[in-house]
Amino acid sequence: MSTNPRYKRVVLKVSGEALREPGSRDNISPQIVQSIASQIREVKELGVELAIVIGGGNIWRGLSASHRGMNRATADYMGMLATVINGLALMSALEDLGISVRVQTAIEMNNVAEPFILRRATRHLELGHVVIFVAGTGNPFFSTDTTAALRANEIGAEVILKATKVDGIYDRDPMLHKDAVRFDHITYGEALSRRLQVMDSTAFSLCMDNRMPIIVLDMNKPDNIRQAVLGAKVGTTVSD
Ligand code: UDP
Repeated sequence: MSTNPRYKRVVLKVSGEALREPGSRDNISPQIVQSIASQIREVKELGVELAIVIGGGNIWRGLSASHRGMNRATADYMGMLATVINGLALMSALEDLGISVRVQTAIEMNNVAEPFILRRATRHLELGHVVIFVAGTGNPFFSTDTTAALRANEIGAEVILKATKVDGIYDRDPMLHKDAVRFDHITYGEALSRRLQVMDSTAFSLCMDNRMPIIVLDMNKPDNIRQAVLGAKVGTTVSD
């Protein structure tokens, strides 16, 4: 396998859940964050420009709180703040590995992170810094998958790597059906017609309308993210 990356600029979406040790009461496992940071370092060593969008579902999800009676917009702002906590944890672990990081937030909080400024973000990437986008889009009723789709299009990334706990997209739920078949590749149209939940519908249409490829991969397999950046067949690619 060549060590020439297939992509020059990549958005990595890391869900909040990925930072939590299964079964643990702690929302964030420092060990898991460290292992994600080491995977990110390996990708950086390929010379790739890397932006990360971090979720917050390990701490708070606006929609589920609103189902339990909380005002949806307020609950969503709380969710966006949760992504800031996760982003700082990841920043710290990356810095411990000697990686230069800039955190940009969609909700201004100057003591904690830079505001999101597109041109500044792309300049950071050109200079080799990892950029972590936190606070989602800054708007309630959206998700961090939508943030990944939005930021990837804004910064001109070539692909979104959606790091999950499953190794791709299946025709049926692999937890329920032993004979579920995993796709190596699927078109946006097929994913829609088969009603496969790749991302929420807002995020998915942003990708489809702008022909932004998505690679869904299992981030618990060490080296998977790096392999995807190198162009190896990893997980499921969704594209035209
Ligand atoms: N959120 C939001 N607007 C955004 C991004 C996120 O309101 O642009 C809120 C929403 O409440 C969501 C929470 O932040 O439930 C955490 O984000 P998400 O559920 O996408 O995190 P993940 O599932 O990736 O951990």
